[in-house]
Amino acid sequence: NISENRPVIRQLDDSAINRIAAGEVVERPASAVKELVENAIDAGARQITVEYADGGKTLIRVTDDGCGIAADDLTLALSRHATSKIDGTDLLNIHTFGFRGEALPSLGAVGRLTICSRVAGQDGAEISVNGGVTGPVRPAALNGGTVVTLRDLFFATPARLKFLRTDRAEAQAISDIIKRLAMAEPFVRFTLRDVSGDGPGREVFRAEAEQGDMFAALHGRLAQVLGREFAENALAIDAEREGLHLTGYAALPTYSRGSAVTQYLFVNGRPVRDKLLVGALRGAYFDLLSRDRHPAAALFVDCDPKLVDVNVHPAKSEVRFRDPGLARGLIVSALRHALADAGHRASTTVAN
Ligand code: ADP
Ligand code: MG
Repeated sequence: NISENRPVIRQLDDSAINRIAAGEVVERPASAVKELVENAIDAGARQITVEYADGGKTLIRVTDDGCGIAADDLTLALSRHATSKIDGTDLLNIHTFGFRGEALPSLGAVGRLTICSRVAGQDGAEISVNGGVTGPVRPAALNGGTVVTLRDLFFATPARLKFLRTDRAEAQAISDIIKRLAMAEPFVRFTLRDVSGDGPGREVFRAEAEQGDMFAALHGRLAQVLGREFAENALAIDAEREGLHLTGYAALPTYSRGSAVTQYLFVNGRPVRDKLLVGALRGAYFDLLSRDRHPAAALFVDCDPKLVDVNVHPAKSEVRFRDPGLARGLIVSALRHALADAGHRASTTVAN
């Protein structure tokens, strides 16, 4: 009897929807760290501290001195598609890291999340959500800013938990994302601590807030993150073509590495891993490096948000340029000019 076996269409409840979304947004502890630190940056924080235990699997805590969340807004901040960053009328014009309003509800669906926050001049408050079950807003004491604590990530989705790598590998991914964000925000002070076990914990990374203009600040920050040697071997890049601006530092071919780990690319302030940009970087050095060597660089492409789509995937750091050839050409020619000026003219043909 067909009518008895007919599938029933049901509307999923919020908790199921959030767990499904979390699978997209939060792949591993480092993606949770990325979302929380981006929120702190969006909140205008000048100092951000990230603590983790057991590779972030049992604890991630992000403390910032940003604008805070008002007690009345805490419940809303945890609800799906609630954001203070866009009003939905202009999705082509995004100037913040966040805009989907998905991170906090997703993290609360798959872990135990507590947000403790205080807006200047108001009383502090906190809210918790455990595996999608949201508690009441309670008064809390803190000086200002926001402390987000995420415990037992993926306890509510054991299948995802099983796919995590060793604590060491997850900690490495956290450190990597912090370093990328630290390069994107040289005026912000970053501290990363491993607080596994009892003891006081161990500082994994720290970058003091840089001073001066953007180039001076970036150079100082690159010296802190990538080391003095990179900074001393790096050429300043500053070029523009049809509304696309390229800035940053690219290392001399003599500083090249045996792996591609020293390639940092940013589009409108966001760390990205983009094949097009990586290919352009390689193209600029094509005749200056042997096949097994990789150029080292930290490059920033900035343009009108209308010229690039950062909305390709919530967690993946891909972007889509309206004119990919323009982006590629800009990188190749700017880098080759800088390298030629520095005496590395191997060929006058520009890679296409
Ligand atoms: P999105 O960042 O896309 O807006 P989130 O779920 O990450 O979505 O955050 C929801 C809202 O909570 C943000 O729009 C912001 O108003 C607020 N918020 C989150 N984290 C912070 C923070 N560290 N400081 C101040 N406000 C925050
Ligand atoms: Mg966010």
